[in-house]
Amino acid sequence: MKIAFLGLGIMGRPMAENLLAAGHELIVWNRTAERCKPLERKGAVIAVTPAAAVAASDICIAMLADPEAASEVVFGDAGVQKAIIPGKSYIDMSTVDPLTARTIGREIEAAGGRFLEAPVSGSKRPAEEGSLVILAAGNRSLYEDALPLFNLLGKKHLYLGATGQGGAMKLLVNMTMGGMMTLLCEALALGKRCDLNAEEILEVFAAGAIANPMFAMKGPKIAAAEHPVNFPLKHMQKDLRLAIALGDEKQQPLHTVATANELYKQALADGCGELDFSAVGQSIGA
Ligand code: NAP
Repeated sequence: MKIAFLGLGIMGRPMAENLLAAGHELIVWNRTAERCKPLERKGAVIAVTPAAAVAASDICIAMLADPEAASEVVFGDAGVQKAIIPGKSYIDMSTVDPLTARTIGREIEAAGGRFLEAPVSGSKRPAEEGSLVILAAGNRSLYEDALPLFNLLGKKHLYLGATGQGGAMKLLVNMTMGGMMTLLCEALALGKRCDLNAEEILEVFAAGAIANPMFAMKGPKIAAAEHPVNFPLKHMQKDLRLAIALGDEKQQPLHTVATANELYKQALADGCGELDFSAVGQSIGA
């Protein structure tokens, strides 16, 4: 089975590397072509366009920045859609909103292809270790066929139903994570003003009911004002924006998410978009 991979960013590159390392024939494409070179050195073949990648593969996987990128790669000149014919399969693992996933899915299916959305929970390290949580929805037979690939990329995978359900689940994860992060940063900022030691704050948090892996991982980095990028802040703000839009559509008030979103927007305005999302702490004063 020939696999293509579109989008070799923080997540896409290690995911593609895991597929290569398992012995799959891999075709790669990235908007900034030079990012394909490390994969080519490991045996991947570079495609010049998304359509060429689809034409050369049985299953094409994408891991792109946002709804705009995911749509452009499918519907743009020499996009995925141009090469979809019966027998082709497209799996979009990018975090997008349900509407974008459904629009892409409908067009792929109209051209005779199979479509699955499969956003992931887990960051750079889980992508490298192949321990992502894969939130799939859409074509069930494609899900079954992709399981050997998902087993290489993730430690857990779920089939959640109709296209859109994967994106919705992913937005729940990230709106929760985004809000947890801003709350942690506000606690550290207030602690600083109270002359409490950040290490001790984190020690106390880790010992009680609010202990969690994210605080343990990110807390010391925030205290040290170090924000090596695993999950870019600009993408967290995108996910909050998408969660709020979903809340609008479903008439679900999201007061906490809306407040968190403003904090990430402030951090974007402060020039932190390319840093890790923990850099929201800089704007909060953590
Ligand atoms: P990233 O490092 O910013 O990579 C984004 C990728 O999208 C790059 O390959 C980029 O190409 C491509 N791209 C952006 N705009 C494009 C456009 N208009 N047309 C074509 N390609 C375009 O992002 P990432 O961290 O790998 O995240 C990828 C997706 O996974 C996002 O939806 C993100 O929300 C989600 N996610 C990320 C994490 C994480 O911890 N990082 C975890 C879970 C899910 P260039 O190289 O040319 O810029």
